[in-house]
Amino acid sequence: MSSNKIILTGDRPTGRLHIGHYVGSLRRRIELQNEGDYQRMFVFVADAQALTDNMENPEKVRQNVVEVALDYLACGLDPEKVTLFIQSQIPELCELAFYFMNLVSVSRLQRNPTVKTEIQMRGFESSIPVGFFTYPISQAADITAFRATTVPAGEDQKPMIEQATEIVRRFNHIYGETLVEPNIMLPQNNACLRLPGTDGKAKMSKSLGNCIYLSDTEEDVKKKVMSMYTDPLHINVSDPGHIEGNTVFTYLDAFCKPEHFGLYNPEYNSLDELKAHYQRGGLGDMKVKRFLLNILQAELEPIRNRRKEFEKDIPAIYDMLRKGSEAAREVAAQTLDDVRRAMRINYFDDAELIAEQAKRFG
Ligand code: ATP
Ligand code: MG
Repeated sequence: MSSNKIILTGDRPTGRLHIGHYVGSLRRRIELQNEGDYQRMFVFVADAQALTDNMENPEKVRQNVVEVALDYLACGLDPEKVTLFIQSQIPELCELAFYFMNLVSVSRLQRNPTVKTEIQMRGFESSIPVGFFTYPISQAADITAFRATTVPAGEDQKPMIEQATEIVRRFNHIYGETLVEPNIMLPQNNACLRLPGTDGKAKMSKSLGNCIYLSDTEEDVKKKVMSMYTDPLHINVSDPGHIEGNTVFTYLDAFCKPEHFGLYNPEYNSLDELKAHYQRGGLGDMKVKRFLLNILQAELEPIRNRRKEFEKDIPAIYDMLRKGSEAAREVAAQTLDDVRRAMRINYFDDAELIAEQAKRFG
């Protein structure tokens, strides 16, 4: 049953995880974990990457490591099946990133559209930290150190995986077949590629404060859904409404399943019917929001409850992360052995080299 797939993904500990992470990647990871069709699965907290744009705020990163780990466990990631680790605890990743830097040009980095947007969002235009600018290279190291074949992630990660693939090709071309090319595994559902924020902005993001967090209380979720961005032209219930760019409908696309109609909205048989009514006019935003709220509460309640259980034993979470980091480090160290050998910098375990040099000078 188990294929030769190696799955790897991570999240930055810049805040608790939100429903954008959930539909973009987390939900898929749990399915993959439970299907069991893989050789190994790694999930990591990308604290070193989080520091590239939070260098003056290490406490924020430190606090959020455990929050992200709790969200993982709450969603159902199982440390018995998945290796959960902390990026900074694997120094081999820095080493690999350093070698990869020789394979990438500054102009290639400047072309990365996700990094371009993020530079603007962070006001880094006039002075970009080198670490932030080069994080796609470090991400390539994270992926390849574990020989990952499959990276379940949202659409914003596409340029990163493309860049990682280029690096692998270049490396293998120069030094010989050593590293594995990764593939991105995007969500199957279009609405999940890049879930917008509750404010209607293009992306729900920890850094933009437009999130519904997996750990939000029932009351918080209600407040956020009820004040969500919809269609600014839909003023009276009788007005025809727009679906395109209407965040409530995008979330329904991401979360609604056929059985939800029977449970919470028996007047309609499908999302298409609900959308058609909204577009015709005569369906109020509040009614649609209440439907979404029911669906979200049902999905989030078990996650919230499991999180509360895991919160009772925080030392156990750190222990799990320590063990995961040790196991992950062994794997990365093996890859680095191969990399050093390929790059001809394995001086001390190369008897041939020593004999050759002795001859040259002898
Ligand atoms: P930050 O603002 O610190 O960058 P973030 O909210 O963008 O945080 P990341 O840790 O950068 O979160 O992303 C982790 C994973 O979640 C990535 O695979 C990313 O594609 C996915 N993801 C993040 N936000 C969304 C979203 N709104 N829709 C779909 N996927 C998302
Ligand atoms: Mg991000």
